[in-house]
Amino acid sequence: MMRSALLWASENQTLRESFPKYGFAKAAVRKFMPGERVEDALPEAKRLNDMGAGVIFTRLGENVLDKAAAQEVADHYSQVFATIASQKLRGEISVKPTQLGLDLPGGLDLCNAHIDRLCSEAQKANNVLWIDIEGSKYTDVTVDIYRRAKAKFPNVGLALQAYLHRTMADLESLLPLKPIIRLVKGAYLEPASIAFPKKSDVDENFYKLAVRLMKDDGVGAGARAVFGTHDSVLHERIAKSATHLQKSQYEFHMLYGIRNEEQKRLIETGHTVFVLVSYGEFWFPWYMRRLAERPANVWFVVKTMFQA
Ligand SMILES: Cc1cc2nc3c(=O)[nH]c(=O)nc-3n(C[C@H](O)[C@H](O)[C@H](O)COP(=O)(O)OP(=O)(O)OC[C@H]3O[C@@H](n4cnc5c(N)ncnc54)[C@H](O)[C@@H]3O)c2cc1C
Repeated sequence: MMRSALLWASENQTLRESFPKYGFAKAAVRKFMPGERVEDALPEAKRLNDMGAGVIFTRLGENVLDKAAAQEVADHYSQVFATIASQKLRGEISVKPTQLGLDLPGGLDLCNAHIDRLCSEAQKANNVLWIDIEGSKYTDVTVDIYRRAKAKFPNVGLALQAYLHRTMADLESLLPLKPIIRLVKGAYLEPASIAFPKKSDVDENFYKLAVRLMKDDGVGAGARAVFGTHDSVLHERIAKSATHLQKSQYEFHMLYGIRNEEQKRLIETGHTVFVLVSYGEFWFPWYMRRLAERPANVWFVVKTMFQA
């Protein structure tokens, strides 16, 4: 109930505009992001690198409303690739298709062009561009965008959502491309006709997809397997089922500020860990999705409101 309400709020235009203006909201969101500028994220990236974790940079934003905004996002990420190289950071970048103009008239061509440019810059810098996966109305087109980009560039990754019934078929169809895949549970409000409503079914499907990805014609044939989850039961189950692999052949990626002790534990036990560090002014829908994942987080917001 609370999850649905928060996910509904994440898509509400009035709330998207009004909520971020409150001081208590800005204070509460700090738990999940170091600040609104990339300059706030860089010292945290350095700290995480020193701790043994790689970093994924994401500037928050989605559903941009004009071409100039999409261009500005692409230019920004281009600059971040340059900064990662000049500061010798172990860091990659993740972007949302609707942040690169997918919703606009002619948006598919625009988005593909920005993706090509960023993949090409990533390739020159020996880096990786990740494509996030958004709500289900974008799944088909995002998988197509990925397929097209991967045919041209080896260094592009895609997130896939374990809560969707279709994902095993998507994974199967992508495996021949030696894909770079980040498996996640899924963060949007989706109907039971296309997504598992029960968390235990999502968890089980995540595990099945992980096992499939780590087979001989997956990781064994050159796919990169990333498990984007904070779920320590899944971390353990996946590690146990990966005894045919080196620990360097699969990775756990987690979000900044969530389960820091588990991040450290995984690093200390020899696993490859990346932390996705978000920054940016347009954080409201993303923050609502983080609250929805753990409704207890709402009490933290309420506490911050009374402290402010
Ligand atoms: C690196 C990364 C990239 C992602 N990219 C995408 C994407 O492209 N598209 C997409 O739809 N989703 C994405 N997600 C979000 C994902 O779909 C889930 O919504 C999110 O990871 C929560 O699920 P979980 O796997 O951590 O498991 P859960 O079972 O929800 O959580 C496991 C445990 O982690 C802790 N936890 C989880 N979330 C929170 C939180 N918000 N606050 C505090 N504690 C928490 C809790 O202790 C919980 O018991 C991404 C997640 C990660 C880690």
